Amino acid sequence: MKPIRFKVAFILTLMVSGCSFFPPSLQKPQHPPTDDQKPYVIMLSMDGFRWDYASKVPTPNLDYVAANGVKAESMTPSFPTKTFPNHYSLATGLYPDHHGIIQNTFYANDLQAGYSIGNRDAVENGAFYGGEPIWVTADKQGMKTASYFWVGSEAPVQGMHPDIWKPYQHNFPFENRVDSVMAWLQLPENIRPHLITFYFHEPDGVGHREGPDSHQTEEMILRLDSLVGRILSGLKKLSIKDQVNLIIVSDHGMGPVSPNRVVFFEDYLKPAWIDTFLGGNPTYLLQPNPGFTDSVLNALSSVPHMKSWKKSAIPERLHYGTNPRIYDVVLVADSAWSLALHKGFTPGRYSGGTHGYDNANADMGAIFYALGPAFKSGYIQPKFSNVDVYGLVAKILGLQPAPYDGNLDDVRGMLKQP
Ligand code: AMP
Ligand code: ZN
Ligand code: ZN
Repeated sequence: MKPIRFKVAFILTLMVSGCSFFPPSLQKPQHPPTDDQKPYVIMLSMDGFRWDYASKVPTPNLDYVAANGVKAESMTPSFPTKTFPNHYSLATGLYPDHHGIIQNTFYANDLQAGYSIGNRDAVENGAFYGGEPIWVTADKQGMKTASYFWVGSEAPVQGMHPDIWKPYQHNFPFENRVDSVMAWLQLPENIRPHLITFYFHEPDGVGHREGPDSHQTEEMILRLDSLVGRILSGLKKLSIKDQVNLIIVSDHGMGPVSPNRVVFFEDYLKPAWIDTFLGGNPTYLLQPNPGFTDSVLNALSSVPHMKSWKKSAIPERLHYGTNPRIYDVVLVADSAWSLALHKGFTPGRYSGGTHGYDNANADMGAIFYALGPAFKSGYIQPKFSNVDVYGLVAKILGLQPAPYDGNLDDVRGMLKQP
Protein backbone atom coordinates (compact mmCIF):
# COMPACT_ATOMS: atom_id res chain seq x y z
CA MET A 1 0.00 0.00 0.00
CA LYS A 2 2.66 2.51 1.00
CA PRO A 3 4.47 2.85 -2.36
CA ILE A 4 1.17 3.34 -4.20
CA ARG A 5 0.10 6.10 -1.80
CA PHE A 6 3.49 7.71 -2.20
CA LYS A 7 3.18 7.62 -5.99
CA VAL A 8 -0.26 9.26 -5.91
CA ALA A 9 1.01 11.98 -3.57
CA PHE A 10 4.05 12.53 -5.77
CA ILE A 11 2.00 12.82 -8.98
CA LEU A 12 -0.41 15.22 -7.24
CA THR A 13 2.53 17.35 -6.11
CA LEU A 14 3.86 17.47 -9.65
CA MET A 15 0.45 18.40 -11.06
CA VAL A 16 0.03 21.17 -8.51
CA SER A 17 3.51 22.57 -9.01
CA GLY A 18 3.17 22.18 -12.81
CA CYS A 19 0.28 24.66 -12.99
CA SER A 20 1.68 27.04 -10.40
CA PHE A 21 3.59 30.28 -10.96
CA PHE A 22 6.88 29.02 -9.48
CA PRO A 23 9.90 29.63 -11.73
CA PRO A 24 10.59 26.58 -13.96
CA SER A 25 13.72 25.60 -12.00
CA LEU A 26 11.63 25.10 -8.85
CA GLN A 27 9.02 23.06 -10.71
CA LYS A 28 11.50 20.24 -11.25
CA PRO A 29 10.83 17.36 -8.86
CA GLN A 30 13.50 17.09 -6.15
CA HIS A 31 14.85 13.57 -6.49
CA PRO A 32 15.52 11.82 -3.18
CA PRO A 33 19.02 10.30 -3.11
CA THR A 34 19.11 6.99 -4.93
CA ASP A 35 20.24 4.01 -2.88
CA ASP A 36 23.80 4.21 -4.10
CA GLN A 37 24.06 7.84 -2.86
CA LYS A 38 22.53 7.20 0.55
CA PRO A 39 24.69 7.50 3.67
CA TYR A 40 26.11 4.60 5.64
CA VAL A 41 26.66 4.36 9.38
CA ILE A 42 28.98 1.84 10.94
CA MET A 43 28.99 1.90 14.73
CA LEU A 44 31.59 0.10 16.82
CA SER A 45 31.34 -0.41 20.57
CA MET A 46 34.50 -1.07 22.56
CA ASP A 47 33.17 -2.39 25.85
CA GLY A 48 34.31 -0.53 28.96
CA PHE A 49 36.46 2.05 27.10
CA ARG A 50 36.51 4.81 29.71
CA TRP A 51 36.16 8.39 28.49
CA ASP A 52 39.77 9.26 29.38
CA TYR A 53 41.58 6.04 28.34
CA ALA A 54 42.82 7.56 25.09
CA SER A 55 44.82 10.11 27.07
CA LYS A 56 46.83 7.37 28.83
CA VAL A 57 48.84 6.20 25.80
CA PRO A 58 49.44 7.37 22.22
CA THR A 59 46.28 6.69 20.19
CA PRO A 60 47.06 8.09 16.73
CA ASN A 61 44.02 6.54 15.09
CA LEU A 62 41.46 7.76 17.61
CA ASP A 63 43.25 11.13 17.49
CA TYR A 64 42.82 11.13 13.69
CA VAL A 65 39.08 10.55 14.11
CA ALA A 66 38.87 13.37 16.67
CA ALA A 67 40.94 15.80 14.55
CA ASN A 68 38.94 15.16 11.38
CA GLY A 69 35.60 14.46 13.00
CA VAL A 70 34.01 14.56 16.44
CA LYS A 71 35.09 13.58 19.92
CA ALA A 72 32.84 13.90 22.96
CA GLU A 73 34.30 15.15 26.24
CA SER A 74 32.51 12.14 27.70
CA MET A 75 29.27 10.27 27.02
CA THR A 76 27.10 9.55 30.05
CA PRO A 77 25.89 5.95 30.24
CA SER A 78 22.46 5.03 31.55
CA PHE A 79 21.93 3.57 35.01
CA PRO A 80 22.83 0.85 35.87
CA THR A 81 26.19 1.29 34.10
CA LYS A 82 26.35 -2.34 32.98
CA THR A 83 26.95 -3.81 29.54
CA PHE A 84 23.58 -5.16 28.47
CA PRO A 85 21.39 -2.29 29.68
CA ASN A 86 23.68 0.24 27.99
CA HIS A 87 24.19 -1.46 24.64
CA TYR A 88 20.46 -1.76 24.37
CA SER A 89 20.04 1.92 25.35
CA LEU A 90 22.48 2.89 22.59
CA ALA A 91 20.45 0.79 20.14
CA THR A 92 16.99 2.05 21.18
CA GLY A 93 17.52 5.51 22.67
CA LEU A 94 15.57 4.34 25.73
CA TYR A 95 16.65 4.20 29.36
CA PRO A 96 16.91 0.64 30.74
CA ASP A 97 13.81 1.41 32.81
CA HIS A 98 11.92 1.86 29.53
CA HIS A 99 13.45 -0.84 27.31
CA GLY A 100 13.33 -3.61 29.93
CA ILE A 101 16.94 -4.86 29.98
CA ILE A 102 17.18 -3.43 33.47
CA GLN A 103 20.35 -5.32 34.51
CA ASN A 104 22.73 -7.94 33.13
CA THR A 105 20.80 -10.39 35.33
CA PHE A 106 17.14 -9.97 36.27
CA TYR A 107 13.87 -11.80 36.65
CA ALA A 108 11.01 -10.78 34.35
CA ASN A 109 7.79 -11.26 36.28
CA ASP A 110 5.88 -10.43 33.12
CA LEU A 111 7.40 -13.46 31.35
CA GLN A 112 7.90 -15.63 34.44
CA ALA A 113 11.47 -16.09 33.25
CA GLY A 114 14.99 -15.12 34.26
CA TYR A 115 17.46 -13.25 32.05
CA SER A 116 21.24 -13.33 32.29
CA ILE A 117 23.96 -12.64 29.77
CA GLY A 118 25.22 -16.21 29.80
CA ASN A 119 21.75 -17.70 29.20
CA ARG A 120 21.52 -18.08 25.41
CA ASP A 121 17.80 -18.87 25.43
CA ALA A 122 17.11 -15.64 27.29
CA VAL A 123 19.52 -13.50 25.25
CA GLU A 124 17.90 -14.77 22.04
CA ASN A 125 14.31 -14.37 23.29
CA GLY A 126 12.77 -11.27 21.73
CA ALA A 127 10.12 -11.06 24.47
CA PHE A 128 12.66 -9.59 26.90
CA TYR A 129 13.51 -6.64 24.64
CA GLY A 130 11.25 -3.58 24.56
CA GLY A 131 11.57 -0.50 22.39
CA GLU A 132 12.80 -0.39 18.83
CA PRO A 133 16.48 -0.97 18.07
CA ILE A 134 17.85 1.19 15.28
CA TRP A 135 18.18 -1.82 12.95
CA VAL A 136 14.44 -2.50 13.33
CA THR A 137 13.68 1.16 12.59
CA ALA A 138 15.87 0.85 9.48
CA ASP A 139 14.35 -2.46 8.41
CA LYS A 140 10.81 -1.07 8.69
CA GLN A 141 11.87 1.77 6.37
CA GLY A 142 13.42 -0.53 3.78
CA MET A 143 17.08 -0.19 4.74
CA LYS A 144 19.46 -3.17 4.90
CA THR A 145 21.31 -3.67 8.19
CA ALA A 146 24.00 -5.93 9.67
CA SER A 147 25.54 -6.61 13.06
CA TYR A 148 28.68 -8.35 14.20
CA PHE A 149 27.43 -8.80 17.80
CA TRP A 150 25.37 -6.15 19.53
CA VAL A 151 23.09 -6.73 22.48
CA GLY A 152 19.63 -7.37 21.09
CA SER A 153 20.75 -8.29 17.57
CA GLU A 154 20.53 -12.00 18.39
CA ALA A 155 16.86 -11.79 19.33
CA PRO A 156 13.89 -11.20 17.03
CA VAL A 157 12.78 -7.84 18.42
CA GLN A 158 9.33 -7.04 17.03
CA GLY A 159 10.02 -10.20 15.03
CA MET A 160 13.11 -8.73 13.33
CA HIS A 161 16.87 -9.30 13.41
CA PRO A 162 19.35 -7.24 11.39
CA ASP A 163 19.52 -8.66 7.84
CA ILE A 164 22.94 -10.08 8.71
CA TRP A 165 23.67 -11.05 12.32
CA LYS A 166 25.81 -13.54 14.24
CA PRO A 167 25.28 -15.50 17.45
CA TYR A 168 27.75 -14.16 20.03
CA GLN A 169 31.18 -15.79 19.90
CA HIS A 170 33.41 -14.25 22.52
CA ASN A 171 36.66 -15.52 21.01
CA PHE A 172 36.04 -14.62 17.39
CA PRO A 173 39.06 -12.40 16.56
CA PHE A 174 38.51 -8.65 16.44
CA GLU A 175 40.49 -8.42 13.16
CA ASN A 176 38.08 -10.84 11.49
CA ARG A 177 35.09 -8.86 12.74
CA VAL A 178 36.54 -5.73 11.12
CA ASP A 179 37.31 -7.59 7.89
CA SER A 180 33.75 -8.94 7.73
CA VAL A 181 32.34 -5.46 8.18
CA MET A 182 34.54 -4.23 5.30
CA ALA A 183 33.38 -7.15 3.16
CA TRP A 184 29.74 -6.35 3.90
CA LEU A 185 30.35 -2.79 2.68
CA GLN A 186 31.43 -4.26 -0.66
CA LEU A 187 28.36 -6.43 -1.19
CA PRO A 188 26.21 -5.68 -4.26
CA GLU A 189 24.20 -2.53 -3.64
CA ASN A 190 20.84 -4.32 -3.41
CA ILE A 191 21.99 -6.33 -0.39
CA ARG A 192 24.66 -4.00 1.04
CA PRO A 193 23.85 -2.88 4.62
CA HIS A 194 23.65 0.88 5.22
CA LEU A 195 23.74 0.39 8.97
CA ILE A 196 26.27 -1.89 10.65
CA THR A 197 26.79 -2.28 14.39
CA PHE A 198 29.70 -4.27 15.77
CA TYR A 199 31.32 -4.99 19.11
CA PHE A 200 34.65 -5.68 20.88
CA HIS A 201 34.51 -7.01 24.46
CA GLU A 202 37.71 -5.14 25.37
CA PRO A 203 39.01 -3.16 27.22
CA ASP A 204 36.25 -4.29 29.61
CA GLY A 205 37.85 -7.69 30.27
CA VAL A 206 41.30 -6.35 31.08
CA GLY A 207 39.83 -3.44 33.04
CA HIS A 208 37.99 -5.89 35.32
CA ARG A 209 40.97 -8.20 35.77
CA GLU A 210 43.82 -5.72 36.12
CA GLY A 211 42.11 -2.42 36.90
CA PRO A 212 41.64 0.72 34.83
CA ASP A 213 45.06 2.13 35.68
CA SER A 214 47.11 -1.01 34.97
CA HIS A 215 49.75 -1.28 32.26
CA GLN A 216 47.80 -4.23 30.83
CA THR A 217 44.86 -1.91 30.24
CA GLU A 218 47.21 0.57 28.56
CA GLU A 219 48.50 -2.18 26.28
CA MET A 220 44.95 -3.08 25.33
CA ILE A 221 44.20 0.56 24.49
CA LEU A 222 47.19 0.54 22.11
CA ARG A 223 45.87 -2.64 20.49
CA LEU A 224 42.35 -1.28 20.15
CA ASP A 225 43.69 1.93 18.63
CA SER A 226 45.52 -0.10 16.00
CA LEU A 227 42.23 -1.90 15.25
CA VAL A 228 40.68 1.53 14.72
CA GLY A 229 43.56 2.06 12.26
CA ARG A 230 42.56 -1.17 10.49
CA ILE A 231 39.00 0.16 10.19
CA LEU A 232 40.18 3.53 8.85
CA SER A 233 42.44 2.01 6.21
CA GLY A 234 39.70 -0.47 5.24
CA LEU A 235 37.23 2.36 4.80
CA LYS A 236 39.67 4.38 2.66
CA LYS A 237 39.75 1.56 0.07
CA LEU A 238 35.98 1.45 -0.41
CA SER A 239 34.27 2.88 -3.48
CA ILE A 240 31.63 4.30 -1.10
CA LYS A 241 34.20 5.83 1.26
CA ASP A 242 32.75 9.33 0.93
CA GLN A 243 29.37 8.13 2.13
CA VAL A 244 30.45 6.19 5.22
CA ASN A 245 30.08 7.60 8.73
CA LEU A 246 32.04 5.82 11.43
CA ILE A 247 30.86 6.09 15.05
CA ILE A 248 32.89 4.62 17.91
CA VAL A 249 31.27 4.36 21.32
CA SER A 250 31.58 2.48 24.56
CA ASP A 251 28.87 1.35 26.94
CA HIS A 252 30.43 2.63 30.21
CA GLY A 253 33.81 3.26 31.83
CA MET A 254 35.62 1.41 34.60
CA GLY A 255 36.37 2.23 38.25
CA PRO A 256 39.06 0.78 40.52
CA VAL A 257 38.02 -1.65 43.29
CA SER A 258 39.89 -3.30 46.15
CA PRO A 259 39.25 -6.13 48.62
CA ASN A 260 39.89 -3.47 51.28
CA ARG A 261 36.80 -1.55 50.20
CA VAL A 262 33.99 -4.11 50.40
CA VAL A 263 30.56 -3.71 52.04
CA PHE A 264 28.87 -6.95 53.15
CA PHE A 265 25.41 -5.42 53.13
CA GLU A 266 23.62 -8.60 54.23
CA ASP A 267 25.28 -8.19 57.67
CA TYR A 268 22.77 -5.40 58.28
CA LEU A 269 19.71 -7.43 57.26
CA LYS A 270 17.69 -10.24 58.87
CA PRO A 271 17.24 -13.30 56.63
CA ALA A 272 13.48 -13.26 57.33
CA TRP A 273 13.21 -9.83 55.65
CA ILE A 274 14.58 -10.96 52.29
CA ASP A 275 12.96 -12.88 49.48
CA THR A 276 15.61 -12.48 46.71
CA PHE A 277 18.87 -10.67 45.82
CA LEU A 278 19.87 -10.31 42.19
CA GLY A 279 22.70 -8.51 40.49
CA GLY A 280 26.41 -8.26 40.92
CA ASN A 281 28.98 -5.88 42.30
CA PRO A 282 28.50 -2.91 42.60
CA THR A 283 24.72 -2.97 42.26
CA TYR A 284 21.98 -5.26 43.50
CA LEU A 285 18.24 -5.57 43.24
CA LEU A 286 16.65 -6.72 46.46
CA GLN A 287 13.11 -8.01 46.88
CA PRO A 288 12.04 -7.89 50.55
CA ASN A 289 9.42 -10.28 51.88
CA PRO A 290 5.96 -8.67 52.11
CA GLY A 291 5.86 -6.02 54.84
CA PHE A 292 9.64 -5.76 55.28
CA THR A 293 10.62 -3.10 52.73
CA ASP A 294 10.83 -0.36 55.38
CA SER A 295 12.83 -2.59 57.74
CA VAL A 296 15.32 -3.23 54.95
CA LEU A 297 15.56 0.44 53.99
CA ASN A 298 15.93 1.58 57.62
CA ALA A 299 18.66 -0.96 58.24
CA LEU A 300 20.58 -0.04 55.10
CA SER A 301 20.21 3.73 55.45
CA SER A 302 23.16 4.03 57.83
CA VAL A 303 25.49 1.60 56.04
CA PRO A 304 28.60 3.50 54.90
CA HIS A 305 29.91 3.49 51.31
CA MET A 306 26.65 2.55 49.62
CA LYS A 307 23.23 3.91 48.73
CA SER A 308 19.89 2.15 48.92
CA TRP A 309 16.64 3.39 47.46
CA LYS A 310 13.07 2.32 47.51
CA LYS A 311 12.18 1.63 43.90
CA SER A 312 9.65 4.47 43.88
CA ALA A 313 12.12 6.99 45.36
CA ILE A 314 15.18 6.62 43.13
CA PRO A 315 16.60 10.04 42.16
CA GLU A 316 14.92 11.20 38.98
CA ARG A 317 18.22 11.82 37.21
CA LEU A 318 18.79 8.03 37.15
CA HIS A 319 15.58 7.41 35.17
CA TYR A 320 15.13 4.08 36.94
CA GLY A 321 12.38 2.54 39.02
CA THR A 322 9.15 2.28 37.03
CA ASN A 323 9.82 -1.02 35.26
CA PRO A 324 7.99 -3.98 36.88
CA ARG A 325 11.19 -6.04 36.48
CA ILE A 326 12.99 -3.84 39.04
CA TYR A 327 12.74 -5.19 42.59
CA ASP A 328 11.45 -2.99 45.42
CA VAL A 329 14.90 -1.96 46.71
CA VAL A 330 17.94 -0.94 44.63
CA LEU A 331 21.46 -0.90 46.11
CA VAL A 332 24.60 0.59 44.68
CA ALA A 333 28.08 1.01 46.12
CA ASP A 334 29.75 4.42 46.27
CA SER A 335 32.57 5.05 43.77
CA ALA A 336 35.49 2.63 44.14
CA TRP A 337 33.60 0.53 46.72
CA SER A 338 32.20 -2.97 46.26
CA LEU A 339 29.06 -4.73 47.46
CA ALA A 340 29.48 -8.42 48.27
CA LEU A 341 27.69 -11.41 49.73
CA HIS A 342 29.57 -13.73 52.10
CA LYS A 343 28.56 -16.78 50.11
CA GLY A 344 31.26 -17.50 47.56
CA PHE A 345 33.31 -14.41 48.51
CA THR A 346 36.88 -14.49 47.20
CA PRO A 347 39.01 -11.35 47.68
CA GLY A 348 40.57 -11.79 44.21
CA ARG A 349 37.22 -11.04 42.58
CA TYR A 350 37.20 -7.64 44.30
CA SER A 351 40.48 -6.35 42.92
CA GLY A 352 40.97 -4.69 39.56
CA GLY A 353 38.01 -2.76 38.28
CA THR A 354 34.26 -2.74 37.86
CA HIS A 355 31.31 -0.69 36.62
CA GLY A 356 27.61 -0.53 37.34
CA TYR A 357 27.82 2.52 39.63
CA ASP A 358 25.72 5.67 39.58
CA ASN A 359 26.20 7.21 36.13
CA ALA A 360 27.29 10.48 37.77
CA ASN A 361 30.49 8.71 38.87
CA ALA A 362 33.08 10.20 36.48
CA ASP A 363 34.81 6.83 36.10
CA MET A 364 31.65 5.50 34.43
CA GLY A 365 31.94 7.99 31.53
CA ALA A 366 32.03 6.39 28.06
CA ILE A 367 33.53 7.48 24.72
CA PHE A 368 31.96 8.84 21.57
CA TYR A 369 33.99 9.48 18.42
CA ALA A 370 32.64 10.04 14.92
CA LEU A 371 34.05 10.66 11.45
CA GLY A 372 32.42 10.98 8.05
CA PRO A 373 30.47 13.22 5.72
CA ALA A 374 27.70 13.89 8.25
CA PHE A 375 30.10 15.18 10.91
CA LYS A 376 31.95 18.42 11.50
CA SER A 377 35.72 18.32 11.58
CA GLY A 378 37.64 18.82 14.82
CA TYR A 379 34.44 19.30 16.82
CA ILE A 380 34.45 18.72 20.58
CA GLN A 381 31.01 17.55 21.66
CA PRO A 382 30.07 18.51 25.23
CA LYS A 383 29.06 15.68 27.54
CA PHE A 384 25.77 14.06 26.51
CA SER A 385 23.64 11.03 27.33
CA ASN A 386 23.87 7.73 25.45
CA VAL A 387 20.11 7.74 24.85
CA ASP A 388 20.81 10.49 22.28
CA VAL A 389 22.71 8.15 19.95
CA TYR A 390 19.65 6.37 18.49
CA GLY A 391 18.10 9.61 17.20
CA LEU A 392 21.45 10.82 15.91
CA VAL A 393 21.96 7.68 13.81
CA ALA A 394 18.36 7.86 12.57
CA LYS A 395 18.90 11.49 11.54
CA ILE A 396 22.11 10.68 9.61
CA LEU A 397 20.44 7.77 7.82
CA GLY A 398 17.30 9.78 7.01
CA LEU A 399 15.11 7.47 9.10
CA GLN A 400 12.03 8.46 11.04
CA PRO A 401 12.89 7.49 14.63
CA ALA A 402 10.49 5.65 16.92
CA PRO A 403 9.68 7.53 20.17
CA TYR A 404 12.80 7.58 22.34
CA ASP A 405 14.16 9.18 25.53
CA GLY A 406 17.01 11.19 24.00
CA ASN A 407 17.00 14.58 22.36
CA LEU A 408 18.51 15.45 18.99
CA ASP A 409 19.11 19.01 20.18
CA ASP A 410 21.79 17.70 22.57
CA VAL A 411 23.87 16.35 19.69
CA ARG A 412 22.94 18.13 16.49
CA GLY A 413 25.82 20.58 16.98
CA MET A 414 28.21 17.86 15.82
CA LEU A 415 26.47 17.53 12.45
CA LYS A 416 27.45 19.49 9.34
CA GLN A 417 23.74 19.88 8.55
CA PRO A 418 22.09 20.13 11.95
P1 AMP B 1 29.78 -7.01 32.08
O1 AMP B 1 31.16 -6.53 32.18
O2 AMP B 1 29.47 -8.07 33.07
O3 AMP B 1 28.75 -5.93 32.14
O4 AMP B 1 29.61 -7.71 30.65
C1 AMP B 1 30.63 -7.76 29.69
C2 AMP B 1 30.59 -9.06 28.98
O5 AMP B 1 29.39 -9.18 28.21
C3 AMP B 1 31.69 -9.21 27.94
O6 AMP B 1 32.82 -9.80 28.45
C4 AMP B 1 31.07 -10.05 26.86
O7 AMP B 1 31.62 -11.34 26.86
C5 AMP B 1 29.62 -10.17 27.25
N1 AMP B 1 28.77 -9.98 26.09
C6 AMP B 1 28.68 -8.90 25.30
N2 AMP B 1 27.78 -9.09 24.32
C7 AMP B 1 27.29 -10.33 24.49
C8 AMP B 1 26.31 -11.10 23.81
N3 AMP B 1 25.68 -10.61 22.74
N4 AMP B 1 26.03 -12.33 24.29
C9 AMP B 1 26.67 -12.80 25.39
N5 AMP B 1 27.59 -12.12 26.07
C10 AMP B 1 27.91 -10.90 25.63
ZN1 ZN C 1 30.34 -3.31 29.22
ZN1 ZN D 1 32.35 -5.24 32.41
